[in-house]
Amino acid sequence: MSSDYDYDLIAVGGGSGGIATANRAGSYGARCLIIESDPVLGGTCVNRGCVPKKVMWYAGATAHALRDASGYGFDVTVNGFDWSALVEKRQQYISNINNAYANYLGKNNVTTLTGYATLVDKNTVEVDGKRYSAARIILAPGGYARVPDIPGKELGMTSDGFFEMTQQPKSVLVLGAGYIAVELAGMMQAMGSQVTLGIRNQSFLREFDDLLQEKLMEEMLAEGLHVEKGFTTASLEKKEGGITATGENGVSLDGFDAVIFAVGRSPATESLGLENAGVTKDARGYIPVDKYQETNVPGVFAIGDVTGQAELTPIAIAAGRRLADRIYDAQEGRHMDYSLIPTVVFSHPPMATVGVTETQAREQYGDDMKVYQSTFTAMYNSFTPHKSKTAMKLIVAGANEKVVGIHMIGLAADEMMQGFAVAMRMGATKKDLDDTVAIHPTSGEELVTMR
Ligand SMILES: Cc1cc2nc3c(=O)[nH]c(=O)nc-3n(C[C@H](O)[C@H](O)[C@H](O)COP(=O)(O)OP(=O)(O)OC[C@H]3O[C@@H](n4cnc5c(N)ncnc54)[C@H](O)[C@@H]3O)c2cc1C
Repeated sequence: MSSDYDYDLIAVGGGSGGIATANRAGSYGARCLIIESDPVLGGTCVNRGCVPKKVMWYAGATAHALRDASGYGFDVTVNGFDWSALVEKRQQYISNINNAYANYLGKNNVTTLTGYATLVDKNTVEVDGKRYSAARIILAPGGYARVPDIPGKELGMTSDGFFEMTQQPKSVLVLGAGYIAVELAGMMQAMGSQVTLGIRNQSFLREFDDLLQEKLMEEMLAEGLHVEKGFTTASLEKKEGGITATGENGVSLDGFDAVIFAVGRSPATESLGLENAGVTKDARGYIPVDKYQETNVPGVFAIGDVTGQAELTPIAIAAGRRLADRIYDAQEGRHMDYSLIPTVVFSHPPMATVGVTETQAREQYGDDMKVYQSTFTAMYNSFTPHKSKTAMKLIVAGANEKVVGIHMIGLAADEMMQGFAVAMRMGATKKDLDDTVAIHPTSGEELVTMR
């Protein structure tokens, strides 16, 4: 390893991507430094993303289980729900993860530094006036939630603010149609808040298969959520009964204790000093990279949300680990494959997807494709007072009916998808699914028995 520099590798950002890259490189003996501007490690996912979100999603699922209990003969009286106690426990859980990072990074000789890093040149960063150099620099600063520039915007919060709320809001307006908006809206409604979801178009999650969009809309409406379609917020105002949001179409929605903007995220590249190293960014601020995650400047790499490719934690982690495998363990050619990314939306009920949607499949394969679809009531829901449907779609293409898309919504869809994604990656055909013995009684068996 080179000794001309203070380190072999510096990671700017101690989130999913920066930690994974430095830790894997460190395990091969590279001298690594992670610079993180937050006081704790872990980044968005651990501190204000996936982890706290999933805890709140479980709380919503628990509320639903309590509601369902009578269907199984239980006479349950719920005496209350202590949001602040849950938040306190959740934060303790996150602190444990933060501490675990500090310990395991130490084992691989990864040094960490708290502070905001800016690039000085392609091998040097500056933090609080001090300079650090490395043979390679990994840019993994992630992104932040956007706030629309409208009058009264300071009355709203982003998903970061949602995780800071120590009291449960009674009436909430969530603005946005992406997975974060849908998830926050669904979990708060499940936990007992009255939620309005304001969406710009007629549907949400529009990059997902139509079946999932339609079913989730039905399920959310049946949960009592109000969806205000065609609503683009023009202003927020504080009035006596709470916050009022007025749309560009003149419609006013009022009486909210909280308004959450979930209208998209932007890469954290404004103050990174990219120009000092000659690293280019695109018009939206993302850093373009080649298949080896390298920017236009040799030796400067970018990982995770800042590259604008599938902004998910496992993507940032996998890209970082493959980069470290290639450079520090001579695994020649190893790089991240961005195709066939399975993903879950933690809505109530959850939905999961991998591969192409039906619309994409029709564009890609024309008539040389086939759709298998099934909608049913899962056994669990046959007994519960609140009914919910499970829906699945399998898309196959070509003479051998290769599976090119799987989409499902319903109880346990989140846990079902991982194994099917492996099968798809291995090139599974409809016949492979048919030849796989079903596990009975489950919802998953439906996918291997479709006709
Ligand atoms: C509400 C929410 C829910 C989510 N849920 C999921 C989910 O369920 N599943 C999933 O896979 N993904 C989820 N994500 C996305 C996931 O959090 C991100 O894809 C992931 O964190 C990206 O990792 P990263 O390393 O690119 O960036 P981050 O994790 O954002 O880490 C970047 C770090 O860099 C630091 N930083 C920025 N600039 C500097 C600088 N100049 N100097 C030093 N430090 C700097 C930041 O403080 C931050 O800690 C969610 C995101 C949000 C907001």
